[in-house]
Amino acid sequence: MGKNNVVVSKCDSYDNDQLKSSVTDIFKKMDNIENLIKPNSTVVIKPNLLLGKSPDQVVTTHPDLIQQVIDRLKKFECKIVIGDSPGGPFNESRLKRIYKKTGLFKLSENENVSLNYNTSSTKISFEEGFLVKSFEVSDFILNADLIINMSKLKTHSFMKYTGSVKNLFGTIPGMKKAEYHLRMPEAENFALMLVDLARYITPQINIMDAVIGMEGAGPSAGEKRKFGYIMASTSCFSLDIAGAYLFNIDLEDIPTIKQAKKKGLVGNIEEIKLYGDKLVPAENTLTPEINESDTRNVNNLPSFLANIVNKLLKPRPVFNKEQCVKCGDCAANCPAEAIELDDYPKVDLNECIRCFCCQELCSYEAVGIKKPILGKLFFK
Ligand code: SF4
Ligand code: SF4
Repeated sequence: MGKNNVVVSKCDSYDNDQLKSSVTDIFKKMDNIENLIKPNSTVVIKPNLLLGKSPDQVVTTHPDLIQQVIDRLKKFECKIVIGDSPGGPFNESRLKRIYKKTGLFKLSENENVSLNYNTSSTKISFEEGFLVKSFEVSDFILNADLIINMSKLKTHSFMKYTGSVKNLFGTIPGMKKAEYHLRMPEAENFALMLVDLARYITPQINIMDAVIGMEGAGPSAGEKRKFGYIMASTSCFSLDIAGAYLFNIDLEDIPTIKQAKKKGLVGNIEEIKLYGDKLVPAENTLTPEINESDTRNVNNLPSFLANIVNKLLKPRPVFNKEQCVKCGDCAANCPAEAIELDDYPKVDLNECIRCFCCQELCSYEAVGIKKPILGKLFFK
């Protein structure tokens, strides 16, 4: 199967019969799958496990879809490991909590597959990187013979969209992710880093859970949105083009796709060969209001001007006191250490790099993003 090919299968719900028929169809149409999966090899399934949320909250890849993929893998007699480095600290007790909430703990017991608890990592060099020449990567990923990247179709406040390429940020261990945000606060560079990471990891199989995804304030506080598809490709870049087409977002508005296109890694939807069911774009989808230009670095301005821009013009995280339980996760995970728990969270807007990790990682949907009207004019 060529790298420009994407298999599309309609799937209206997480009903097991429907999932089974879609996943069987996908495995059949990805004709080289038999050559990719070797007996006794270690196959790592890398879902999106951003937070410990139940499957019906649509933040994470649905466990019933993962179960169908495991069923198809069994005939290959490979060793199957499910793992991700979710947002926040990467340790055994947190992983266990997340596996339980997302339905994977039960799945691993029923299917007799392993869940990853290895939190070690290794620094690898990647001279071919366009921007980043080395990465700290989790060892459970480096130990895999084959990676199945199972993303969830959602919006993302910082990257506009999270699909297959963005899902691979979860190969970076825990709090190390914060360093990448700090080093690359502008969306353009952060996206190019993600493109480099995806080129390094190069998952052999990419499957997207686009049955029910998320629109609006994704990746954790948005609204459920039914798309009704499962899609797969050997290229995470091609799969994202199909995902963005389905979501109906302009490709140029998605920083990872824009960078991948610029570097010649992928083309437009017309250059993608779609197999299987007809892919019909969703209508009137809600995307985050934040644009690439909102994250522009203003630190090259004189400091008094930079302060004005940071305080009055840039979009900023806002905290809803009625929903906030003062757990402190936002402060603990802020890459810039810009949040103080002064009873309720309070942000130093001059330190804030507008990564919106606080919004992404708040389990209580207590963080919103406010975009000043003046900012809309300034960051055109
Ligand atoms: S905003 Fe969310 S993450 Fe931060 S303290 Fe409140 S509940 Fe916790
Ligand atoms: S306050 Fe929120 S948006 Fe600002 S740097 Fe911290 S995590 Fe990122």
